[in-house]
Amino acid sequence: MTFLDMDARFSNIVSKGQREGITIDDYNVLKQIERELLTALRRTYGNYDYLNNDFYAAVEEMYKKGMSGVLTYEDYLSFKEKTVGLDEKISSYFSSEVAGENEEILYGNVCSVIDEIDYNKLSTGLSSEQLKYIKEHAYLLPLAVANNTHPKIKMYGDNSYMFLCQFHVEHTPSMGVTDLKNLMHCFACHTNGNAIDYLMKYEDLSYSDAVQLASEIFMFDTGVKEAGFKELVAKYQDAILSEQYQELLHKGFDRLNSRGIKNIGNINVEDAYNYRFGMIERIRRGDVDPTFQCDGVKRLVYLNKKS
Ligand SMILES: [Zn+2]
Repeated sequence: MTFLDMDARFSNIVSKGQREGITIDDYNVLKQIERELLTALRRTYGNYDYLNNDFYAAVEEMYKKGMSGVLTYEDYLSFKEKTVGLDEKISSYFSSEVAGENEEILYGNVCSVIDEIDYNKLSTGLSSEQLKYIKEHAYLLPLAVANNTHPKIKMYGDNSYMFLCQFHVEHTPSMGVTDLKNLMHCFACHTNGNAIDYLMKYEDLSYSDAVQLASEIFMFDTGVKEAGFKELVAKYQDAILSEQYQELLHKGFDRLNSRGIKNIGNINVEDAYNYRFGMIERIRRGDVDPTFQCDGVKRLVYLNKKS
């Protein structure tokens, strides 16, 4: 991008932001402009800064030596050597300053807009029905299995599994995942929540990124391309396809069956397990969830409200 391109794209994004809000694509363009400007500014000022430090270091060294009374002719020569070309570089710095000035102003403007962007409040662009679907069908159990470090995952109650807590350091498991309710709770550090909360905390993501990651893991097609979660998606899908996760599901289903429990709250046990086993097969084949309806999302970025 040339300077004029960057300037024009920046102005477009700002005026669009004032009219209708900034999309995640706009945000990414802003970040790209920021990076390119920073590179350009480093190119302009970088050498000068380096030489400047080098020069002052040489002066300081000379001064210290001189004060102790052992300044030699060699010292003088090495000092001259370090300052050779200094005038030339300083004059080239001043002549390029004009070219750098516009870039510097634009860089300042881009940075201040980026500072105002509240990335954590980035809208998912999904409806509340779609978010509800994702929260209900993005399962916590395989996520916890993916990050499990304890050799045995024990069951407790009707439908819960105990893990070593993945949010604090401990040696006996305190983190319970209740599969059909799709919730977790640590009895020691009290971390709790659903699969989206889990991904936000464990992978250090914003809410909308956690929703996007969950959508990619469980293959709800939101139409967002290349969100950059390839490795994380692979890690969690491996856990979904693992024998360990399927064994846990069988154990849970058998236990509820043997106790004659058909419903937990308003959740029908058989339906819930059918969906889970269906989901495993679907992901094995690489098919999107046909029940999840979405024709593309428009994620908007919110600006921080200045008080
Ligand atoms: Zn904990």
